Amino acid sequence: MSRVPKSAPRSQIAVIGAGIAGLACARILVDGGHAVTVFDKGRRPGGRVATRRDGPFSFDHGAQYFTIENDVLPAPIANAVDEVVIAPWDGRIVSMSGGRRESVEDTRRRWVGIPGMSALPQHMSAGLDVRCGRAISGVTRNSAGWRLRFEDGSEAGRADIVVVAVPAPQAAALLADSPNLSNRATATTMAPCWAVMLGFEQPLNVPYDGAFVADSPVGWIARDRSKPGRGGGDSWVVHASPEWSRKYLEAERREIVEELRDAFGQVIGQAVSKPAYAKAHRWRFARVEVPAGDACLFDTELGIGACSDWCVGGKIESALASGQALGERIIHSRTPVLAPERA
Ligand SMILES: Cc1cc2nc3c(=O)[nH]c(=O)nc-3n(C[C@H](O)[C@H](O)[C@H](O)COP(=O)(O)OP(=O)(O)OC[C@H]3O[C@@H](n4cnc5c(N)ncnc54)[C@H](O)[C@@H]3O)c2cc1C
Repeated sequence: MSRVPKSAPRSQIAVIGAGIAGLACARILVDGGHAVTVFDKGRRPGGRVATRRDGPFSFDHGAQYFTIENDVLPAPIANAVDEVVIAPWDGRIVSMSGGRRESVEDTRRRWVGIPGMSALPQHMSAGLDVRCGRAISGVTRNSAGWRLRFEDGSEAGRADIVVVAVPAPQAAALLADSPNLSNRATATTMAPCWAVMLGFEQPLNVPYDGAFVADSPVGWIARDRSKPGRGGGDSWVVHASPEWSRKYLEAERREIVEELRDAFGQVIGQAVSKPAYAKAHRWRFARVEVPAGDACLFDTELGIGACSDWCVGGKIESALASGQALGERIIHSRTPVLAPERA
């Protein structure tokens, strides 16, 4: 049933960014009766929730898993367990610091996508109008409403309301017509993360499945095969620490692979044989350091808003909450719609 208040017209809404926040927001808006188009510059939706497959190997090279307060799944993914899109990961997780190793117990479930983290955004995209493969580089407003442009200057579309759901440093420019929102994005800081994916023909003998690591170039390692619904080769993801990633942000990928493979060997306490697969991926804006501090941002007068993990926290849970919050806010706002002429 449509949740648009009777007095409110059906708006044309453009969502920039098909990560978890943009998809959650789009889902709420579509369920609320609005016409929504989602744009993403990537080849497929998901953003930092991604899975790379090559031969027998499969790597969640961005987000590893997610937790939800009280384990109550929010509306945009409420049916994800029943539809076998996500499942709990019961991997053995440890923390390592100063040569000591301790088990990490989490009172909340660690959820993962099946058969990879990318299953979650794929599921959330179902039934939405998601257009991938081109970046939006201009968002401007005139008396007829919002106009969105691709990088080559061609028109991407027009909208009554724009939702910007991209990492803060990229959001600032897209929000320029609303200086208050743009400034909030600029004040938010995000740390990079180098991820290295290592696939081995012979499984490594390691007595745990994931480790938070301190005092090392490495911040986290995980054996992807230990997650539910995976098979295939022995695939490991190695995430560098924020400090190390920042220091070597512009280094060659080949050097990053070598350095982090050696550091990985030191973490697991064994020399690492030549991997059958070894690639690096740079997440320039990976983790939120200083969030904006509000669930979402919305300029009611102009009809432009922002949602993403950086609004409120820095995790998938934050992105879901932020997208949901902005969707609800738009549905219940009294934004004047200018009924733009459509080309
Ligand atoms: C290495 C790493 C490890 C992580 N580990 C965890 C974890 O274990 N648990 C957890 O909960 N969270 C983790 N996170 C954080 C989690 O991935 C994010 O909180 C969440 O995915 C953010 O979603 P989002 O929709 O806000 O942003 P994003 O996922 O960044 O989505 C933004 C989207 O916008 C698109 N975009 C950007 N600019 C434009 C443009 N101009 N035009 C069109 N499209 C554009 C991008 O292509 C992208 O798809 C991790 C992140 C990284 C990088």
